[in-house]
Amino acid sequence: MNKEDLKDKLTPLQYKVTQEKGTERAFTGEYYQKTDEGDYNCVVCGETLFSSETKYDSGSGWPSFYDVIAQGKVKEIKDTSHGMLRTEVVCCNCNAHLGHVFPDGPKPTGMRYCINSASLDFSTRKKKS
Ligand SMILES: [Zn+2]
Repeated sequence: MNKEDLKDKLTPLQYKVTQEKGTERAFTGEYYQKTDEGDYNCVVCGETLFSSETKYDSGSGWPSFYDVIAQGKVKEIKDTSHGMLRTEVVCCNCNAHLGHVFPDGPKPTGMRYCINSASLDFSTRKKKS
């Protein structure tokens, strides 16, 4: 998808976060308090990245997960911007910027995927009939 199409598809904030590595303001996102069961998909390409099962309240003001839904769903990239050494998390499928991962999460992984709501699109899991 080219830039112009993406600008039509995404809100300005979603565009800024996913395409320009922006960060939404803490405690302002759509999903940081969400506790519903379901999947969190890439807002750009729809790839399922995170599940409500590994979501937890980190108190950071951003949706936080201690694991991805499956191995290889996100790419982790060393990020030295803003004078900090951090690990950027991007969608494996479309390279959308999602957020960062920090090694201060809860068990069992000890990781905290700190993800922008603006990068995610929540979908309720369909009930098995
Ligand atoms: Zn994607």
